[in-house]
Amino acid sequence: MNAYRFRVNEHGPAGSVVRENFEPQAPKPGWVRLQLKAMALNHLDLWTTVGMKGYPLPLPVTPGCDGAGTVDAVGEGTALPPDVELGGSVMIAPGLSCGVCAACLRGDDMLCRDYKVMGNGCDGTASTHVLVPAANLLPIPGNWDFEQAAAFPLVFLTAWEMLVYKAKLKPGETVLVWGGGSGVGSAAIQLVKFLGGQPIAVVGNQMKAVKCWELGAEHVIVRGTEDVAKKVKDLTQKRGVDLVFEHTGAASWEASVAAVSRGGRIVTCGATTGRDITLDLRTLFAKQLTFIGSYMGRREHLWTLLAHVQRNPTNPPFRPVLDRIFDLAEYPEAQRYLEAGQGFGKVVCRV
Ligand SMILES: [Zn+2]
Repeated sequence: MNAYRFRVNEHGPAGSVVRENFEPQAPKPGWVRLQLKAMALNHLDLWTTVGMKGYPLPLPVTPGCDGAGTVDAVGEGTALPPDVELGGSVMIAPGLSCGVCAACLRGDDMLCRDYKVMGNGCDGTASTHVLVPAANLLPIPGNWDFEQAAAFPLVFLTAWEMLVYKAKLKPGETVLVWGGGSGVGSAAIQLVKFLGGQPIAVVGNQMKAVKCWELGAEHVIVRGTEDVAKKVKDLTQKRGVDLVFEHTGAASWEASVAAVSRGGRIVTCGATTGRDITLDLRTLFAKQLTFIGSYMGRREHLWTLLAHVQRNPTNPPFRPVLDRIFDLAEYPEAQRYLEAGQGFGKVVCRV
């Protein structure tokens, strides 16, 4: 079998992963092996490669949280989810959990003590083949190709968990979406629109601004050319937004707190520009704010998202935005490209 994968043997800069040939193992009971056709990068690929202070990872590890491919082998006695079969096309739910603890049994699998994300706590998709629990397989909707399917799960799961399950977005509410050109930002703009809210996107340049308009943003603010909080106040009759969709961290935090309305909430899933912030407690209680942390999301959301797409797969209410497609052999270059942050949407590798 002509199989290869990329490994983080020791932490180093983005792109420092090492290619190696390997012999894919047979899946154990409850698991399947996929022949990957596409994988998508996330910021977690970079964190896994570079390393996170205070969060040691089991090395060596193959990065890559998202992937799509065909079911190559099925572990003995393993049942498969609906519309999934040996040889069929699937995409991967990126979160792994024990399945039997109290958190898992009530559906909060991302709160499981054993929760792992593919390509971080266990081997991921920067590979020609990957082993996955059968419970993590989903059918690919409609006529989507493998690249679209690979680009879908992690960012849409994350954004849905934040907007629907954590922040309980209501129709008519305004939402400030930082990093509108990122994978999770481009998903959030579409989901806010789908849920009846009004997305205001923040981006780094005019090219990204145009694309955010196309995705349905009500307003777009180009960072660096305008004061984000002041512009938000202008756009909302001085009220501020009901919800801030945060994932950029230190660089945007102060503006997020200034831009949110009284009684508003800030939901965050990341800290790509830094994780240390300051918080004035008087602002927290006087403005009666709610800060909400979120990480990945309930696996059931992926089936909900899939159902919305499958009602009209050729013209779905939301879809992954693809930026650039590399070959899997170019995965280190794809990491460096993602780190540079010049694209719009998801960076994908075709296997
Ligand atoms: Zn569990």
